[in-house]
Amino acid sequence: MFLTSGEHRNLSDGPNAEPLRVAPWLSRRGFFRRVILAGAGLGVATEAMSSQARTKGSGSIRWTRQVRAVTRTLRIPRGRWKWIIAHHSGVAQGNAAIYGKAHRQRGMENGLAYHFLIGNGVDSDDGEIEIGTRWRKQIGGGHVRQFDMNEVAIGICLVGNFQQNSPTPRQLMAFRELVDYLRSEVVGAKIRFAVHREIDPGHTACPGRWFPTEEMHRRYGALRKG
Ligand SMILES: [Zn+2]
Repeated sequence: MFLTSGEHRNLSDGPNAEPLRVAPWLSRRGFFRRVILAGAGLGVATEAMSSQARTKGSGSIRWTRQVRAVTRTLRIPRGRWKWIIAHHSGVAQGNAAIYGKAHRQRGMENGLAYHFLIGNGVDSDDGEIEIGTRWRKQIGGGHVRQFDMNEVAIGICLVGNFQQNSPTPRQLMAFRELVDYLRSEVVGAKIRFAVHREIDPGHTACPGRWFPTEEMHRRYGALRKG
């Protein structure tokens, strides 16, 4: 879940400011009426992937074709990213354009607070990985409270409220494939993995009780402090 971050100090100055609390836009039901976006600004043109996509340790590329196509064009120094942090969106619907618009309205000039968003079949395909502007630009996220952490933490959000429901099997397959890919080919396996509530304890249940946090820690390493 998105929390007001330190990205813009003026967030705490406005009349609607509720810093360090769950973003109020989440409760604005009206906001989630379907917006016809006609794909504007979303994603990249689907690129046919050649066999070059299969590089060392790449494993499955069922869910990460676009991510690989985009990431291949980026220059990402080793050490740029220190953390991968998993989130749920806290609501059952939405996609990168919808959340991005909401986050922008909350004062985040870079829009979508996460680097990646994994759809649940409502407003994007089930298991579809949408790539945020912040990943394309290799800039920090806005998905946790601390500015310093946002600067070095890749935010991956799954659409849904996992306090109430489980992620879909496809969402979890896509999530694992994405994190596997990032660790094996982009950021290195030393990157730390956490779920949001481990980073902001006491402020959020994100990504919810039904997200398989323990499984992911077995897969990507136990949480280490410091
Ligand atoms: Zn979160």
